[in-house]
Amino acid sequence: MEKPYFIPISAPVFAGNERAYVLDCMDSGWISSSGKYVELFENRFAEFCQVRHAVACCNGTVALHLALLALGITHDDEVIVPTLTFVATANAVTYCGARPVFVDVEPKTWNLDVAQLESRITQRTKGIIAVHLYGLPADMDAIRNVAARHNLFVLEDAAEAHGALYRERPVGGLGDIGIFSFYGNKILATGEGGMVVTDDDALAAHARLLRGQGMDATRRYWFPVIGYNYRMMNLPAAIGLAQLERADWHIMRRQEVAAWYSEELDDMRGITRQFTPDWGRHAHWLVAVLLDEGRALMRDDLIAKLYSRGIETRPLFYPVHTLPPYIASSASPVNLPTAESIAPRGLCLPTSAGLTRSDVRAVCRNLRECME
Ligand SMILES: *Cc1c(COP(=O)(O)O)cnc(C)c1O
Repeated sequence: MEKPYFIPISAPVFAGNERAYVLDCMDSGWISSSGKYVELFENRFAEFCQVRHAVACCNGTVALHLALLALGITHDDEVIVPTLTFVATANAVTYCGARPVFVDVEPKTWNLDVAQLESRITQRTKGIIAVHLYGLPADMDAIRNVAARHNLFVLEDAAEAHGALYRERPVGGLGDIGIFSFYGNKILATGEGGMVVTDDDALAAHARLLRGQGMDATRRYWFPVIGYNYRMMNLPAAIGLAQLERADWHIMRRQEVAAWYSEELDDMRGITRQFTPDWGRHAHWLVAVLLDEGRALMRDDLIAKLYSRGIETRPLFYPVHTLPPYIASSASPVNLPTAESIAPRGLCLPTSAGLTRSDVRAVCRNLRECME
């Protein structure tokens, strides 16, 4: 029987050595985090980000937690987080007993608004998390300048931005430490998976120690600190290595898909796109559009209509400061107007390396019809 027509929001493509490497894990019996693929994946990923160290872990949320712990974030610290992000960015700060302090985003790029950063800094502020939303790099030079003036760390949440470039350099290695996710719908996917990347030897060693229960590297069952089991298994690492071997293809395909979307959508009435400044290469995890203000109320209906036509779209994230666990936080201002205006009007369109020209055309034709 023919499969029903369905275009998912983002689907992985396994066209390289994924299957062979996974079978190698099974056949050799090395399935846990002791297998060889973990180190191979780490080494290759460090090269990919042009950094000295990559520490693989079980997902992107854990990577954020490890990075913050390695930086020494603890009770009563404050960390600045853009409010328009996936909730894990803020939750990881909360796991440390620290407080995420939310800052608004820019209307055009939807990334952290650097002009508002300084107003959020207090005596307790320890650092800034720069999120590259939907694959678009945040303005790292400007963020680093503010951080340097106030002696703050910069952590890049590059979970959605594998292969994005900021002034020709790959994201992830532009701050003190960075993280990636390899969740099944991300640009490079291992099912569940994460990575911490850094040029700093001490931060890398600290993240590694905490990842493996805090066990001393030279003395088995000796635990100088309380650690975690945040290790990555050999199976996802095997998939990750194979994905990484074809990273150029995955990145190039997303550029092509995004360019097709531009052809279809750039002069479509009623919507605007996320703006890419000329200093960045957008990795296009998800191509997203904003409905004009007058059409905000039709957004959820539009998602439902498109779904009934076999096209999966997603709303933009809710601003984190409006979610129940954070709305009561006294550090949050009552409103962050740009994020609050953008979020209810935003719609992410299917974006996968495997999409064809006619898939993109079909998505845009249906979008146009459903908006009428
Ligand atoms: C996906 C994502 C994460 C979390 O990654 P998981 O691997 O799902 O835990 C963190 N931050 C952002 C911005 C993400 O999109």
